[in-house]
Amino acid sequence: MAWEPVIGLECHVQLRTRTKMFCGCPVAFGSEPNTNVCPVCLGLPGALPRTNAAAVAHALRLGAALGCRLREHSVFARKNYFYPDMPKNYQVSQYDRPLCEGGALSVTVEGAARAVRLTRIHLEEDAGKSFHPERHGDRRLSRVDFNRAGVPLLELVTEPVLRSPEECALFLSALRRLVRWLGLSDGDMEKGQLRCDANVSLRTPGTARLGTKTEIKNLNSIKAVERGLRAEIARQAVLLDAGERVVQATLLYDADQDRLAVMRTKEQAHDYRYFPDPDLPVLEADEAARTHALASLPELPWAREARFRDALGLPAYDAAVLTESRELSEYFEASAPPAHAKLASNWVMNEVLRVLKERSWDVGDWAVRVPAARFADFLGRVAARELPGPVAKQVFSWLPDESGPVSEILARHGVVVASGDDELRPLVRAVMDEQPAAVAQLLAGEEKPFGFLVGQAMKKSGGQAVPEVLRRLLREELAARSPRP
Ligand SMILES: [Zn+2]
Repeated sequence: MAWEPVIGLECHVQLRTRTKMFCGCPVAFGSEPNTNVCPVCLGLPGALPRTNAAAVAHALRLGAALGCRLREHSVFARKNYFYPDMPKNYQVSQYDRPLCEGGALSVTVEGAARAVRLTRIHLEEDAGKSFHPERHGDRRLSRVDFNRAGVPLLELVTEPVLRSPEECALFLSALRRLVRWLGLSDGDMEKGQLRCDANVSLRTPGTARLGTKTEIKNLNSIKAVERGLRAEIARQAVLLDAGERVVQATLLYDADQDRLAVMRTKEQAHDYRYFPDPDLPVLEADEAARTHALASLPELPWAREARFRDALGLPAYDAAVLTESRELSEYFEASAPPAHAKLASNWVMNEVLRVLKERSWDVGDWAVRVPAARFADFLGRVAARELPGPVAKQVFSWLPDESGPVSEILARHGVVVASGDDELRPLVRAVMDEQPAAVAQLLAGEEKPFGFLVGQAMKKSGGQAVPEVLRRLLREELAARSPRP
């Protein structure tokens, strides 16, 4: 039978801060193992933590952007468990008094916006990283790197309101766009800066009672989230169809093998013996801090997307692509000529994004070479039909590799664009004289040779004529030769 998936996500976002959550060690990706450590993040006795204000500010901004209730007094708690990459044997997290509660993030599912409600967002610290087992001569070794221990994390938990793997993928894309947009995180899933666990259960559609859920851990790409959930939903459906029951379990998804493996079954919930961390003061977010968080937000991605659609008249698809990153949307706005948004959108989406892909550049790399003002000059000329299609493409290809204003590039390459009637009329007349048969056909009411004659005139101009002008002149010349009474 058909089952309805009920999915909730727990997302971990590694915050972009200079230093760790509770000490001054640098946050850096790819350092030599165990070089960014100190007594605090190694959990040595007597070391005292201090809360990173930048991490708190990031969390408040995300909470404000998502419409969460920001708690005035939130509490850091110790989550006790033993694991080799946890030198303190507890992780500092937030438990019953998290910084942010409620709120929602909208995703567009099949053209319709759907608000995915959030349970909470809280701050915590990351654990270290284990590598095991590795062959080392004749021994097998496990190693642990504590560089990541204490790196600031945000945990964002959704209500169990997601209904399909595709919706979860859209949610993660939207979250990644937002954290990058706000400058909170690079959100690079490959580097573990955005990680996701998913809780999933199945139920009969239309019923409210939830089935037994399982948890899939460490889904480290958007594709893995989609495929891992799809595999787990299929597995649970087979069990339920056969009249068996789903056992509550934690699963690991192996993206390379597209396979799920049971990590542990849970007969009861874990008891982490949470208690408020006595070394850390209550985290206070007063009215001023909350107001500041709200006021410091830029135009949010969904608002800009809606504005591109509604005020600039761009198709929904264009608006979504152009607001995929804040940098791209700002570059687009700064370079689009007024009243020619769609033309600018086509150039950015088809040509600029193609070059970025070919050269593995980001928008910043492109903008260094082609500042928005220079691209605006180029697009303005295209919009004014000063650069006919093939010429425009050619000029565009020079932009990233050559310096100077567009006029200088045109001069350097000897591009002369002919648009004046005085220049072009003799060309049109000459072509007509060379092609009397085609002209006769046109005068007899056949349209077919028209494009051919325009092409001939374009050729005579060395590809530098504006085609609209050629077409108009040809019409005029034909009218003049028409044997009308
Ligand atoms: Zn440290």
